[in-house]
Amino acid sequence: MVRRYITVKGIVQGVGFRPFVYKIARENNLKGWVKNTSKGVYIDVEGTIEKINSFTYNLKHKSPIVSKIEEIIIENRQLVNYKGFKIEKSDREKDTVTLIPPDMGICKDCLRDIANPKNRRYRYPFTNCTNCGPRFSIIQKLPYDRPATTMDKFQMCDNCCYEYMNPLNRRFHAQPNACPSCGPKVELIDNCGYKIICIDPIKEAAKFIKKGKIIAVKGLGGFHLSCDAKNKKAVQILRNRKHRPKKPLALMMKDIDTVKKYCNINAKEEEVITSNKRPIVLLNRKISQLPENIAPNNNKLGVMLPFTPLHYLLFDENIEVLIMTSANPSGIPIIYRNKEAIEILKPIADYFLIHNRDIYTPIDDSVVVVTLNKERVLRSARGYSPVYIDIKNKRNILACGSQLKNTFALSKNNKIFISQYIGNIENLETYNRFENILSHIKKIYNLTPSVIAYDIHPNYWSMEYAARQDIEKIPVQHHHAHIVSCMVENDIDDNVIGITYDGIGYGTDGSIWGGEFLLCDYKDFKRVGHINYVRMPGGDAATKEPWKMAISYIYNAYGNEVYKYMPRVLKDRNIGPVLYMIKNNINSPQCSSMGRLFDAVSAITGYTGRITFEGEAAILLESMADMNENSRYNYDIEFKNEKYIINTNRIIREIIKDINIGTGYNFISNKFHNTLMDFSVEMCNIIAEKYKIYKIVLSGGVFQNEILFKGIYEKLLDQGFEVYTHKIIPCNDSGISLGQIVIAGANCEN
Ligand code: ZN
Ligand code: ZN
Ligand code: FE
Repeated sequence: MVRRYITVKGIVQGVGFRPFVYKIARENNLKGWVKNTSKGVYIDVEGTIEKINSFTYNLKHKSPIVSKIEEIIIENRQLVNYKGFKIEKSDREKDTVTLIPPDMGICKDCLRDIANPKNRRYRYPFTNCTNCGPRFSIIQKLPYDRPATTMDKFQMCDNCCYEYMNPLNRRFHAQPNACPSCGPKVELIDNCGYKIICIDPIKEAAKFIKKGKIIAVKGLGGFHLSCDAKNKKAVQILRNRKHRPKKPLALMMKDIDTVKKYCNINAKEEEVITSNKRPIVLLNRKISQLPENIAPNNNKLGVMLPFTPLHYLLFDENIEVLIMTSANPSGIPIIYRNKEAIEILKPIADYFLIHNRDIYTPIDDSVVVVTLNKERVLRSARGYSPVYIDIKNKRNILACGSQLKNTFALSKNNKIFISQYIGNIENLETYNRFENILSHIKKIYNLTPSVIAYDIHPNYWSMEYAARQDIEKIPVQHHHAHIVSCMVENDIDDNVIGITYDGIGYGTDGSIWGGEFLLCDYKDFKRVGHINYVRMPGGDAATKEPWKMAISYIYNAYGNEVYKYMPRVLKDRNIGPVLYMIKNNINSPQCSSMGRLFDAVSAITGYTGRITFEGEAAILLESMADMNENSRYNYDIEFKNEKYIINTNRIIREIIKDINIGTGYNFISNKFHNTLMDFSVEMCNIIAEKYKIYKIVLSGGVFQNEILFKGIYEKLLDQGFEVYTHKIIPCNDSGISLGQIVIAGANCEN
């Protein structure tokens, strides 16, 4: 007989880990105990060497699907002769980072339960077990036990209690365990706040959906606005009421066969969309009967499968495709409380399908895409967040991120916590949401940052926020943060060439950057190349009006002959005042942004509107390219002030020439994309040659453009470079907080 004391670290709480340990301990006839602590799971076992070996083998290789073991420490101890094996009460320790599990979609076993008329959970919308259901969104503190969640107010009935206490039951210590007689209940409310009296609120809601009504549905992390996606009129009403004219709306489809009916989907995409994380996956749409107003001018549809029992029950009512868009009217963060939902969503929703299981931490749907056969997260939220990353870093740092698609990061004891997607911090509501989630996480981890990292953009909220904190401040350049976030995720910490293509980031020379070639390590960077500067008339506001950037690029290309070459689509614009601003440098900072170059070319090739969502003009341009064309435009690379500058003037002139001879926009878009790939690769060759660095890191929101991303990646590989890309960390500004925290850590090493 021997005794082993085992510590297991990782995602091991709230995922059925203790019952699993209990089971394998009993199978191997071991005595002792298992316990949850805020440091991880402790196991103390006695038995024969063979049995203990078989136990630890199972521990490593057969752990529950949702768990993620990061470390197992095994120590020898003196025998104490334990009698049986038991699960001991949790205790809380200081100075630790326990990983909180994310919320998970309903598992197959629970789905079977709700479909079986003989099961006591038949049609019960809050069915869950240790393998599925809410976690992060209902946890109030650690360790994760029922009283520390919003399920505390429901007293388990005898049947549920029995399951909860029985180590061999699938619901053993499933903290949100509930059933129709003791758990949360669903209600249907009209938009005057009155309860609809009916036998089955879900069936009733489905009836209204089929009549073209808009229903606010409470999900795991907040409310969705939902309507029948096949009803064009209903979709339009939802758009009008939500003041969302064109931004694509997310869909929820009944099952994977329905997804295949409307979208082209490969094996990897199927694996991702059916996973228990249940993200929104961007898929290539088929030509179908689905109304165009779901995602106007877009080749992709954002699709997810049902992830709660309640969703499945809705689809049981002969519904095939639902709009399921986050309930966040006009830029405010996702709504998650019943009362506020009814108050705020009253002008949008006709009915509310609500329930009394409270959401403690709101969390949006995640958005992912499969590119080059890898899953790439574009918005990390439900099912994916929080994300934890290991790093050597002794200080407690808060990185407050950027402005758009914001997240924050906190570091403690060599571990970085990255928050879920919070949103664009441009109003008080989103800022308050940021503050609330931040203080919740600080409390959970008992953490007081001593350093704050923030973006150097003087107009961003974070500048002012950092100024108010009485701790060490480390300003971080936006694109340095982008590249470092991708370096960390790929575990590289030597020098790299970073290509960062994105919308807007404040540069260290006071200009707006976004088409940058940076030599980077964690500590510092050197800007070695960029797209040529043009004026950005009106500053950051120009991002809303692509035509203004078009004027600026055309002026740069033709100087005073600008009017002579103005393409027809731009002629009736109010060009004079914009040109005046550009020429006289009135509120027109220099800008080298790839996002703005896309805007300009999109406006030259027919995008006429004002931007209604980020990236709109660029997405239109991308969707026009049908990539069978190999030609490209000419460009120049100049060496000025120790930097290589991509001069785009010839590109613009040749595009305008193409337009004048009647070349199709598809062809132009195609050629433009090819050109960007070419100059990116040529720049890498020049810079690599000069600095002897052959690792290339790609980051920045423009890499969400699939054509450009794939093209640059593959061409760089062909040339023999090592190329690193984002997977779990978004390439857009949601990744900034991770970059900031690592850069800050590298700059305060003591
Ligand atoms: Zn389950
Ligand atoms: Zn019960
Ligand atoms: Fe950015």
